[in-house]
Amino acid sequence: MKRFSSLTLLAVALSLPSLSMASGETTKPLVKKYHERIITKLPQPDYTKEDIETEIEFGHQLASKILGKYPPLKDDKLNRYVNEVGQLLAMHSKRPELTYHFIVLDTPIINAFSTPGGYIFITKGALDQVEDEAELAAILAHEIGHVELRHYVKKIGLKSQKSSGEKSLMAILSGGGTAAVSAFNQAIDETMDILFKEGLHSKKDEFAADEYATWLLVNSGYDPTALKRYFQHIAKIKSQQTAVLTHTHPPLSERIQKLTQMIDKNHLDQAKLAKLEDRFNENAQ
Ligand SMILES: [Zn+2]
Repeated sequence: MKRFSSLTLLAVALSLPSLSMASGETTKPLVKKYHERIITKLPQPDYTKEDIETEIEFGHQLASKILGKYPPLKDDKLNRYVNEVGQLLAMHSKRPELTYHFIVLDTPIINAFSTPGGYIFITKGALDQVEDEAELAAILAHEIGHVELRHYVKKIGLKSQKSSGEKSLMAILSGGGTAAVSAFNQAIDETMDILFKEGLHSKKDEFAADEYATWLLVNSGYDPTALKRYFQHIAKIKSQQTAVLTHTHPPLSERIQKLTQMIDKNHLDQAKLAKLEDRFNENAQ
């Protein structure tokens, strides 16, 4: 927990410029589409202030557990850069009640994952396959999608009200006793299994996060083909490095196919938005 709290200090002031400001008029019709396609489809908040508090606390505990599995990368420059790219995306996301944290993990495994409440992790192995800033943004945006669309929260049925289930953090906080504590810990273990062993078991949720990510890239001024391009690089890797990712997500070939359909249908490949290969190389190499 101690190691984790020092990481939260990485939420530094932004020094990277906002890309959507730079790309100006050309993105306007696409951003309008983003609002039509994604924002209007986001679930209407059917959760309470207490549910949000629960989600954030749950995410915090889960993040600590993840940091027990993989250590954070000791590279301040790279951590700061990843966090800044993530915060640029977060400015365009739609859950203002959340503070996002972006953390690089020191492992060659190729993966990225998120917790409820807004903790986003990317591995050094995944970063090593990235070719430009838009691809980095794409990976983070997919994870922001899982948080915004509340996939894990729904999967494990995490709510604050005692009546909604025993996995009630609020019950623990108000002295729910050992049964509630063990139920909460069980929910943490269950989510660890979803993240590292089983996946969400929902192609629909994964494709929704890919679609969300692509529109978030547009809205933030990044090349909307970046997620597809990144998948194309890692689809060529045949090693244990991608085992967890391929086991917990739909096949990359299907995700590439879905993204291609979406990009073609919306003419997103004509958007000519920022890739920022040089800026990525300056900060990540
Ligand atoms: Zn995913």
